[in-house]
Amino acid sequence: MSTGALVDDFGRTATDLRVSLTDRCNLRCSYCMPAEGLDWLPSEETLTDDEVVRLVRIGVERLGIREVRFTGGEPLVRRGLVDIVRRTTELRPRPETSLTTNALGLARTARALAEAGLDRVNVSLDTVRRDQFQEITRRDRLDDVVAGLEAAQAAGLGPVKVNAVLLRGVNDAHAPELLRWCIDKGYQLRFIEQMPLDAQHGWRRDTMVTAEEIFDALRGAFRLDPAEEPRGSAPAELFLVDGGPATVGVIASVTRPFCGDCDRVRLTADGQVRNCLFAREESDLRSSLRAGAADGEIAERWRAAMLTKRPGHGIDDLSFLQPTRPMSAIGG
Ligand code: SAM
Ligand code: SF4
Repeated sequence: MSTGALVDDFGRTATDLRVSLTDRCNLRCSYCMPAEGLDWLPSEETLTDDEVVRLVRIGVERLGIREVRFTGGEPLVRRGLVDIVRRTTELRPRPETSLTTNALGLARTARALAEAGLDRVNVSLDTVRRDQFQEITRRDRLDDVVAGLEAAQAAGLGPVKVNAVLLRGVNDAHAPELLRWCIDKGYQLRFIEQMPLDAQHGWRRDTMVTAEEIFDALRGAFRLDPAEEPRGSAPAELFLVDGGPATVGVIASVTRPFCGDCDRVRLTADGQVRNCLFAREESDLRSSLRAGAADGEIAERWRAAMLTKRPGHGIDDLSFLQPTRPMSAIGG
């Protein structure tokens, strides 16, 4: 069997696979999608459940993938999700398997996902205020997210992590409140700097809320000390809150990029390998799959796709170009 890791030209090895299961979503977060939604991928272009599992299997068995995270769009809207998770956790070596979700409907499926072997969930929640939630996501669904989080915790899908994006003048003044709420519930909160990945191209470097501002806001309410564990390839810088054991993470993707330690590779819902969120090229594995290619050929194509990975995302460069696909279509 042909095996060999996914190594790029800069010596980085990808072991963490992000799989987008759909570009569709039931929220319309303003930093991600326009209010009217997007033109969804036609269903015939979307990988079938069997195709997804085959590519994940090739990644795990031949290319050294050790972690698989399902995302989207909203992965919970994909009908075959539980089965895809089950078949993924049956692979050997068994990959650590997790889900990034907005948690709508998670209250109903958390137990089945845990029984299918899912290890953890990351839930996106930017505020616990109903009006702000509605302003950001354009839907009045805060209660469903809260119920989904509780169900995930009860099903053992922990440690449950919460991802939050702060928007200036919307929810940025309430970062400490969100942290207090997460600590009280036993969730690990991580703030993510907003990146230029919205379909509307509304991101502006001069108005985004920076990690420095997030620290300042949190330090007004809590004592933060760097957690001892080294950051490694994990993008979040971790801090103990008021001496611990609670922690908070800040993912400074824009102002303190961690590209040098990147261990990720992405697969879009239509079967394209992207070696970075900000990649300008994709490599089409779906055509190879559907043309009857053997596992070894697909693995070779995937390995070759890593060689175009750039050293960094270059958001701060004058020549930076936002990718044509938005976050919801790439898989966040
Ligand atoms: N729908 C799921 C969710 O919201 O968790 C999964 C897909 S979503 C694209 C994955 C993550 O990307 C979410 O945590 C979301 O907050 C984050 N995200 C979306 N657009 C972003 C942006 N422009 N900058 C930073 N993070 C973003
Ligand atoms: Fe949907 Fe997630 Fe994008 Fe929000 S961030 S619109 S929940 S895909």
